[in-house]
Amino acid sequence: MLLHRLEKQLLQKYLEREDILGQIELEPVTNIKGVGTETAELLNELGIYHIHDLIMYFPYRYEDFRLKDLAETPHNEQVTIEARVEGMPVVFFTGRKKSRLQVSVFSGRHIVKVVFFNQHYLKERLTPGTIITVSGKWDRGRQTITASSVKFGAKEINQDFEPVYRLKGNLHQNKFRKFMRQALDLAKGQMAEKLPNKIRQQYQLLSIEEALEGIHFPKDANHLKQARRRFVYEELLMFQLRIQALRKSRKEHEKGIVIQYDLEKLKKFIQQIPFELTNAQKRVVNEICKDLKSPFRMNRLLQGDVGSGKTIVAAITLYACVTAGFQGALMAPTEILAEQHYASLESLFQPMGVKIALLTGSTKAKDRKIILEQLENGEIQVIIGTHALIQPDVTFNRLGFVITDEQHRFGVEQRRILREKGMHPDVLFMTATPIPRTLAITAFGEMDISVIDEMPSGRKQIETHWMKKEQLNASLVKMEMELKKGRQAYVICPLIEESEKIDVQNAVEVYEQLRRIFHGRYKVGLMHGRLHPDEKDQVMRDFKEGNIHVLVSTTVVEVGVNVPNASFMLIYDADRFGLAQLHQLRGRVGRGNYQSYCVLLANPKTDEGIERMRSMTETNDGFRLAEKDLELRGPGDFFGKKQSGLPEFKIADLVHDYRVLEVARNDAVKLINDERFWKEDEYRLLREMLEQSGALNGERMD
Ligand code: ADP
Ligand code: MG
Repeated sequence: MLLHRLEKQLLQKYLEREDILGQIELEPVTNIKGVGTETAELLNELGIYHIHDLIMYFPYRYEDFRLKDLAETPHNEQVTIEARVEGMPVVFFTGRKKSRLQVSVFSGRHIVKVVFFNQHYLKERLTPGTIITVSGKWDRGRQTITASSVKFGAKEINQDFEPVYRLKGNLHQNKFRKFMRQALDLAKGQMAEKLPNKIRQQYQLLSIEEALEGIHFPKDANHLKQARRRFVYEELLMFQLRIQALRKSRKEHEKGIVIQYDLEKLKKFIQQIPFELTNAQKRVVNEICKDLKSPFRMNRLLQGDVGSGKTIVAAITLYACVTAGFQGALMAPTEILAEQHYASLESLFQPMGVKIALLTGSTKAKDRKIILEQLENGEIQVIIGTHALIQPDVTFNRLGFVITDEQHRFGVEQRRILREKGMHPDVLFMTATPIPRTLAITAFGEMDISVIDEMPSGRKQIETHWMKKEQLNASLVKMEMELKKGRQAYVICPLIEESEKIDVQNAVEVYEQLRRIFHGRYKVGLMHGRLHPDEKDQVMRDFKEGNIHVLVSTTVVEVGVNVPNASFMLIYDADRFGLAQLHQLRGRVGRGNYQSYCVLLANPKTDEGIERMRSMTETNDGFRLAEKDLELRGPGDFFGKKQSGLPEFKIADLVHDYRVLEVARNDAVKLINDERFWKEDEYRLLREMLEQSGALNGERMD
């Protein structure tokens, strides 16, 4: 349930709102000296029409002119030093208009060389004893600075950082900085302060005026840091206020069903489960049951790593729903997964006398008719199925609770259909993709989140090895050792969205190769996204039933598919996958009682790639890997381009500002539930923002 486009637009609209400054919002940018129609057009291209737009156009980086100690400056890094010219400058002419000027300077500690290209005229001024402030790239080996700028005299204060903006065409940094200076001066005393004083005092945040000055022309590192801190907080607070307002309005407007389950029966059911629930499982069962009982509509995400035991949580809560006289449904994205769930739930429910049924696209017409009747008259208490469950002719008697497995595959659409059927059951989405908390509360901010962060005890860890491609034979030998023991293996080939064709071929190639190698000994199967759904199902079934020993597949191999006999996985070009995906893939093995292995075949070319391979061999913990993935690749890549529901923040960075996000979230929850927020003048601007965003009417997505 990722943020909807509409949602993003609303946020964008808010961020582009023109009431942050009083008068300035109405003043066209041409009121700035030096901005004529031509320049104005260039500014327009950047989205700058009014002076206020200009002010809100933040630098994307800063030129750092702080003085540094050369001894501590890494090779090739930008550096600024104050120095005294020592020797006589020497000029070499290297071509027409091309020259190289070299001079020795004393930095207070070291004598180093400074080189200027094509500025031979500086020779006259660089006489011994002259004090200069020079910036450039530091070559540690040669003890040389290649100068990019030089100023005569000691460094002036107030020049530590120079803003650098993203500009287009003929617009130059220096000019733009001058416009910005004017704009800030014009806006002085006219800026509306959106953040209430109380909050600003609590966190010692700069005023809007000081912060704008600090973001564009910081006096020093701390000024910049404080300015950034204010805007990050403001941005995240606004975002969270909207999400929390939305939650509140949903709670008030979408009345749910009170599912008054029978606690005694539920306890009995839990007692007859063949194992003891983990603490995490107990906790999330409680969270879900509380929602079932409450009059609000449940909208909850259940996260749990592969193998953490989500199915039993689903079973317990579905049973709770049944004891209250309601029907429950569990929807899976594929038939195989639905069948799998049906098999495990049936054995759990049978002793309790719960009537359960399976409905998929392949259910025979005759059986389907009976199932539909029994759903309508309420005889069937729990139904497991695929999309087939939400076809127009399926009518429930008293549907109270719907669980969706692997929500990223469907969700929004399914909820819309349920609503159109006039049903408002409690909804739980289960996912095996560990999502770092910062991303979860951003992308799924309007949902409640439960996390199973603990594995059942006694699990065998999957042994993961990283091998170079040259070691393919060694890994095949390892694979064959497993096959000899009667186990099965997966071989995964990369699939990259843009070039699906090529990569399918890659899988086909590997398939042909392995078929030759294992000819007459083991059966090899092939699975990829281009197969017809029926063919896919057949291949998966053959693998499940042991008719195929080695399954060569692209990443389409089903999430959640359970083949406990598979104990070996080989992943080709493993460095082409992100950590989250590698972890998901690896989760296909280690599902039985056998020690399982995962071999990553990769010759990574980047440090980041090496780091990913290492991380995989070091931990089996999906949440730790997810955090690492976020750290290595950033939030944009985490979900993959297509489904990234993350809003684009102007200044906040979800990786580095996660603490602020937590704080802003807590503050937003408090504010939204505080009467004063809705009345007092201090909060007026925040309230107006909420009104404009539509969050107060529960407007958003699906
Ligand atoms: P997933 O969260 O990946 O869907 P499953 O629900 O399929 O995981 O559970 C994986 C396996 O762990 C199943 O065989 C299940 O019976 C078992 N299991 C679940 N919870 C526990 C527990 N608390 N103790 C021992 N085994 C458990
Ligand atoms: Mg599962």
